[in-house]
Amino acid sequence: MTNQFKLLYEGKAKKVFSHYDPDKVIIEFKDDATAFNALKKAKFEGKGKLNCLISARIFEYLIKNNIPTHFLELKDENTMIARKIKVIPLEIVLRNTAYGSLCKQTNIQPGTVFANPLIDIYLKNDMLNDPLITKDRIALMNIISSKDLDLIINLTLKINVILKNFFKNIKLELVDFKLEFGYDSKNRILLGDEISPDNCRLWDLNQKNDTIVSLDKDRFRNDLGGLIEAYSEINQRINDFI
Ligand code: UDP
Repeated sequence: MTNQFKLLYEGKAKKVFSHYDPDKVIIEFKDDATAFNALKKAKFEGKGKLNCLISARIFEYLIKNNIPTHFLELKDENTMIARKIKVIPLEIVLRNTAYGSLCKQTNIQPGTVFANPLIDIYLKNDMLNDPLITKDRIALMNIISSKDLDLIINLTLKINVILKNFFKNIKLELVDFKLEFGYDSKNRILLGDEISPDNCRLWDLNQKNDTIVSLDKDRFRNDLGGLIEAYSEINQRINDFI
């Protein structure tokens, strides 16, 4: 990124730069991958570009389906322009099928399909290791009003319906995903961050038996190999569909 833009924030997988327009930001997707609160780190050449392209297509699809998001346009392969938002420090995880941390923390069996999606909310705080948080704690900490929390939860459920169908069309099962929201300059709540195989679990439905084939960051978390191949496959299926 040229230095005409000021680096506002650098996260684990993205850099956020200022834009000429104070209501906009430039988001650059990095090749870095982290897992387990950055205890595990690696670099995958091309990951930033793939996540940026996948996220852009998904945001466009959500916008078409009346979901308010921060996405404005792709700038180049690994950079997008987005509306500037004040990020709400909550990670909203929706689970259609049990996997990952849920199965480590409970005796729910991996692969259990839920009749209704499960929503788990985590406090976005690396120092505290992103703890699971309750509605009452959110109110006590004055993070957001209960009205806005309900709005975010309802948006997440709506996004799930849209994305579950979207991914089913390209033979992928949407197991779970993590969303982040924020307020724009007019105090409207927008979906932020990214939607990519870094923050969604996607299983290949093109398998003959019930074998789980992860096409997401579990390839890195669980040392399965082939991360770039998996992300490229998702990008390819999305492009063939749209
Ligand atoms: N997730 C994420 N960022 C996090 C934690 C989780 O994007 O800091 C996503 C993750 O990719 C998965 C979903 O949220 O799609 C549920 O993750 P889980 O709680 O099972 O945690 P994990 O197994 O990643 O430790």
